[in-house]
Amino acid sequence: MAGERVNLLGLPRAELEAFVAARLGAKPFRARQLMKWIYRRGAADFAAMTDLAQDFRAQLDGVAKITVPEIVTEQVSNDGTRKWLLRMDEVQGIETVYIPEPDRGTLCISSQVGCAMDCSFCSTAQQGFNRNLGVAEIVGQVWLAHRELAESRPGHGDGRGGDARANITNIVFMGMGEPLANYRNVVPAMRIFLDDLGYDLSRRRVTLSTSGLVPQIYKLAQECNVALAVSLHAPNDELRNELVPINRKHPIDELLAACWHYIDVQNGRSVTFEYVMLDGINDKPEHARQLARLLKGRPAKLNLIPFNAFPGTRYRRSPAAAIVRFRDILNEHGVIATIRRTRGDDIDAACGQLAGRVTDRTLVRLGTKLTPMTRTAAEIQ
Ligand code: SAH
Repeated sequence: MAGERVNLLGLPRAELEAFVAARLGAKPFRARQLMKWIYRRGAADFAAMTDLAQDFRAQLDGVAKITVPEIVTEQVSNDGTRKWLLRMDEVQGIETVYIPEPDRGTLCISSQVGCAMDCSFCSTAQQGFNRNLGVAEIVGQVWLAHRELAESRPGHGDGRGGDARANITNIVFMGMGEPLANYRNVVPAMRIFLDDLGYDLSRRRVTLSTSGLVPQIYKLAQECNVALAVSLHAPNDELRNELVPINRKHPIDELLAACWHYIDVQNGRSVTFEYVMLDGINDKPEHARQLARLLKGRPAKLNLIPFNAFPGTRYRRSPAAAIVRFRDILNEHGVIATIRRTRGDDIDAACGQLAGRVTDRTLVRLGTKLTPMTRTAAEIQ
């Protein structure tokens, strides 16, 4: 049986080596050459891989392919943040956001179409859960962003663009979906982000953010070394049960025990706890004091996220003064807390605003403010 051509995008090194050996009788160095072409140089076509023998390229074509997701739209915010909507099927999409800063470039990627965690303040939750992304769909987000950013880099096309991988210095799983609920595909994708023949990022620059799937945190501690962020959002179980329903299954004390275990096993620096600031809900001085009691003396940092509104939400963002006060109380109690600057909210690219509807007309209506482009993967090739 000829079989289906295998998508090489997303095969971690060991699997790619096994594939070229089994299907092509090739040595492991062929897999390394392929990885360099795919990830460093962003190739999607075997014909372009000029240091591979022509008959090997032809053989490859028979059994393998490199398929990336299709870009539906790209939007660019006033602050330089970019958001891509990628097609997953007729109506559903996922979103990937690039956030440039003077000293780094962070790519925020999705792990699922929709999400099943049902956090009450998150727009992704409203669409429910559709499906897990495959490894190629996760890695494909980085591959596409890498290519799009390379094209807009000064010097591109005349050979002075340098190594375009430099545009993406950090990858965070803070887009749509719960990455630990898609463990099977997220971990191989992270191996490619860390591999020096892949995206060559250090373990501190790849961050997995979770709403708190405790058993998977223990599993991850054994299997893959990346930075951990945890969406805490409340300092007690009563409130967290309401905001982050998974808390009913894995309450705060169990969650924190898993976090400290993670840091111990991985010799990590600290867990980043995310805390969305909801007016009148979780932003009172007493909440800050309760939080400080939970985290004081622990390897923890707090990241306060001003709530980003979306249509239909019942929550409001805490006033700036309340957020600053909250941070100050934490700092006074010896807990490091910072306020996350909102980025890309004019294109609904901020935390919790990702919805990924391919059919969403607002993308068109917002046109005056943005730079909308519709390019399919085929046009860009
Ligand atoms: N499911 C993962 C990652 C996705 S969300 C997780 O829960 O961590 C990335 C971060 O954005 C999380 O901390 C999430 O709680 C936060 N977030 C969700 N909705 C938000 C909103 N409307 N405003 C601000 N932050 C939000």
